[in-house]
This record gives sequence, structure tokens and C-alpha cells, in this order.
Amino acid sequence: MITGGGIRGSTMRGSDGIRYNQKHPGITLVCFGRIEHDLKDELLHSLSAFFDTLQEELPVRPVCSCRFEPDPEKIPAQNQETAYFPVLEIAGGNIILGVTNTGFYDPSLPRYIFSYGRFNGLGLLSTYRFRNETNTRRQYLERMGKQIIKTLAMACSLDACPDKGCVVSYHRYVDDLDHNRYVCESCRTEFIRSLKFFLDIPYGDASNLLQTEGE
Ligand SMILES: [Zn+2]
Repeated sequence: MITGGGIRGSTMRGSDGIRYNQKHPGITLVCFGRIEHDLKDELLHSLSAFFDTLQEELPVRPVCSCRFEPDPEKIPAQNQETAYFPVLEIAGGNIILGVTNTGFYDPSLPRYIFSYGRFNGLGLLSTYRFRNETNTRRQYLERMGKQIIKTLAMACSLDACPDKGCVVSYHRYVDDLDHNRYVCESCRTEFIRSLKFFLDIPYGDASNLLQTEGE
């Protein structure tokens, strides 16, 4: 049985450092370090537009908010993501998605990772390969707008989708994102099921949602 979504959702730490009750389910975007405003806006817009498409199925529409944090002081040479998740764990929100320019090098693959989903409702996106492997700003923002939805899927423990047109599909290269045009019906159903759990809307057994993944 997964736990944590409800606990994180019950209180939130304000800019004054004081915890207060969070009355409305929230998705928190945590921008680490120097994340440009146009990127932050694109990520928030993409999340908001996605929730617009789920409006009829989700009884409560989550509030998407943003906060800025410095990159962690000590980032290991490998498995850099381990320095970020402790910050996300205390950021507040039902689902918390981090974004950073730091590269996440996975020596077991070996290559840099786009995103991690971990600890139930936590996701982390690295701009590193997108910045280095995309030619135009417009295309960069388009790809990032899609990858934040994939990161949300990973935070919600969705499996990679076999449909290459679906945003939830596995991405090996940055231009794999360019084939994504939609969230397929199957992933949409899984999203709604998982989001209802993380947003604290009772729907039944969520015991098979637990997993960790990276891509
Ligand atoms: Zn799909």
C-alpha cells in the first residue's frame, strides 16, 4: 500500500517557513537553480492544460504552483538525483515535480537521464540533454512541455506506454518526444486512477501503484 501523498498534502510550508493547512489539492513545481521564466511558464502551462483535459473525470482540479530553490550544495558525481529528492520530500503538495539544469548521469546505462519518478508522487526532470541536444528555443520548450507530463506520469507510477504517439511512452532520445501527440486512452485511465489517489480522492485499492523508474 502506498503512503505519503495524503501526508504531504495535509500541510504545506509557506515562504515564511511556517507550516499551514493546505485546503486544496496541489501540484508543486520546484525550480532548482537558474530555471528561466519562459521554461517555468511552459511547464506550468503544460500541466495546467493537461488537467483541463481531465476536468470531467477528476472531481477536484489540482492547483499548480511553483517555488524556487537553490541547487543542493553537495551534488555527487554520479546519481546526482539523490541530492534532490530530500528537498522534494519536504516541499509541500500532493504531487511534487522538480526541474533542474543539473545532468543526471546514470553509469549503469551509461547516459544522462531525462527524468526520475520516485517515492510516490515525486518526480524530477533534468533539462541537461534537452538543452544540449535541441537546436531552437521553441523546440526546447515544446519538448520540455511534453517531458513534464511524462515526469508527472512517472511520479504517479504509470508504466511506460507502448504507443509511441503517447507522451507516456519511453524516451531514449530527445527527438522521441517529437512523435508524442497525445495521452492515449489507456494512460489517461491510469492517470485518473493514480491522480485520484495522490489528490486524496477515495477510489479504492492503490496497492499496485508502487514503483520507481527512470528514463
Ligand atoms: Zn499511453
